[in-house]
Amino acid sequence: MPRILEWAEIIKSYLPRERHDESKWFELGGPDPRFPEGCEVGTTAVDDSARPGQTCCVFLRPDRICALQLASKEHGQGWPGLKPFYCALYPLYLEDGVLTFDDVTPLDFEDSGCRRPACEARPLYTIYREEAILVLGEDGYQELCEKASGDFAQDASPKTPRSLRRSMTNEK
Ligand code: SF4
Repeated sequence: MPRILEWAEIIKSYLPRERHDESKWFELGGPDPRFPEGCEVGTTAVDDSARPGQTCCVFLRPDRICALQLASKEHGQGWPGLKPFYCALYPLYLEDGVLTFDDVTPLDFEDSGCRRPACEARPLYTIYREEAILVLGEDGYQELCEKASGDFAQDASPKTPRSLRRSMTNEK
């Protein structure tokens, strides 16, 4: 959140005027020591002009592009740039210390999935390499690759949570 606010004036140039009040960009949750701010911080939901009667993230523009992503790209911030940690990870996500994959939301919300057919079958942990490194670090990702190359089916040790095995290999 602090980094995003440092860029507030630039980010505003990518948002509709009615969303320019940065004091309304975030909502604080209850105390939670797992987060740097000492509590969970979420982006505010606002009326979605593209879908009357529904809401969306304050940074989701009417053209369905994330203002933080666009500002990052156009100002040389690379990836993940200004995107919040969990947004940068998606469709991977962390839950109770387990890195897993969101295969539920596309079932609940039609057209919300960001997966597209690929020309060749590849393990998800290679497709989402950058996202996995964001969580695991280079060393952790290397460890994951070594485990995966040993075949999860044979190396299904109790140390490897089933949700991680499933999400990282598309195992059903
Ligand atoms: S990626 Fe995150 S910050 Fe950007 S529009 Fe989506 S929810 Fe909002």
